Amino acid sequence: MASIELALTEEQRALRAGVLEICKRYPGEYWRDLDTRREYPEKFVTELTEAGYLAALIPQEYGGAGLGIREGGLILETINYSGGNAGACHAQMYIMGTVLRHGSEAQKREYLPKIATGALRLQAFGVTEPNSGSDTTKLQTTAIRKGDRYVVNGQKIFISRVLQSDLMLLLARTTPVDHVKRRTDGLSVFLIDIRDLKGFEVRPLRMMMNHSTNALFFDNVEIPATSLIGEEGKGFHYILDGMNAERILVASDSLGDARWFIEKAVAYSNQRVIFGRPIGANQGVQFTISRSHISTDAAQLMRDKAAALFDAGEPCGGEANMAKYLGAEAAWEAGNACIDCHGGYGYAEEYDVERKFRECRLYKTAPINNNLILAYVGEHVLGMPRSY
Ligand SMILES: Cc1cc2nc3c(=O)[nH]c(=O)nc-3n(C[C@H](O)[C@H](O)[C@H](O)COP(=O)(O)OP(=O)(O)OC[C@H]3O[C@@H](n4cnc5c(N)ncnc54)[C@H](O)[C@@H]3O)c2cc1C
Repeated sequence: MASIELALTEEQRALRAGVLEICKRYPGEYWRDLDTRREYPEKFVTELTEAGYLAALIPQEYGGAGLGIREGGLILETINYSGGNAGACHAQMYIMGTVLRHGSEAQKREYLPKIATGALRLQAFGVTEPNSGSDTTKLQTTAIRKGDRYVVNGQKIFISRVLQSDLMLLLARTTPVDHVKRRTDGLSVFLIDIRDLKGFEVRPLRMMMNHSTNALFFDNVEIPATSLIGEEGKGFHYILDGMNAERILVASDSLGDARWFIEKAVAYSNQRVIFGRPIGANQGVQFTISRSHISTDAAQLMRDKAAALFDAGEPCGGEANMAKYLGAEAAWEAGNACIDCHGGYGYAEEYDVERKFRECRLYKTAPINNNLILAYVGEHVLGMPRSY
């Protein structure tokens, strides 16, 4: 039976201290400048990779640290808590799980050690499409087998970090939906090398926050048949297998954001004097911050429960989804409290509050929107009718 440790172990404290040490070298100015130019935090991600942190979840036999999801989450949480944006590099931690669980031994030996050292970067995950959105099984990108290759045609939207990755995990339909029993069948997942791929076009999108997000176009793109992960037609199920890890890690991003906002809000409210006293002495200011602290602590307990279950190999779908929901909502609540107490300064770029406010908002929508989390809980946790 899994149990939640309320305090960090000595190793986890050391892990956190190591990540904080790196983050200190990348202060608000660094992230702000990249945000203005919409550029990728290349230097930060390289340093984090070289120090081994992005290989935390890769087993030791493939060159990683072999740590658990709790530690992976702690790394991402620490980055966001320190004022950075783990969204630039969090995907590698959950994408590689599909390769690890369903890839062949040859694929694992070929890719995982290189991903661990940073020789190859796998930060791109191509699922969402313009015409299917959250309804993944309706995606229209096809991959048709021709001899020793698959030919890919279609479009993807909002796919992040493609220009910064060497590899991408791609979900495409290999059997038409009217030829399969269940619409969740007939989708396949591929690990493709996207460097110099003929017929593949990447169009960067200017988004609300600096997230290196793109529209992708596949025009008769040929990929080797060896890039198929596991069995053809089972891709949707493989991706679902990785969802709990994704939810727990994204909840951790949000918890880091929430803690950053709360710390910043408390410090500012204690020192800003208006009407002859610190603004934090007013209940209208103080209570919104207190409330967001309560939400954040509750979200952390759920994240820790989900992580404990996950690391013990126990079912954790409900907890992982609830952790993602609570984390995203807590960060948004804390972001609002923080921007409110800063008054006009909350909108000034140099305070970083507005940047973090934009960044934290994403997790209410992606990688899955919170409405679909509620739908999951209604159906799978509470046993109500499927609502979508
Ligand atoms: C910055 C950014 C980065 C992203 N990066 C990636 C990436 O790297 N890879 C990738 O594959 N995708 C990525 N996404 C896509 C993201 O996962 C989707 O935007 C998200 O899953 C929602 O899909 P959609 O935008 O098509 O919204 P839709 O599916 O059109 O939904 C729109 C809204 O309608 C509501 N809704 C829809 N259906 C229901 C329902 N049944 N019940 C209740 N409410 C419903 C939800 O509130 C939802 O927010 C990214 C998105 C953003 C904004």
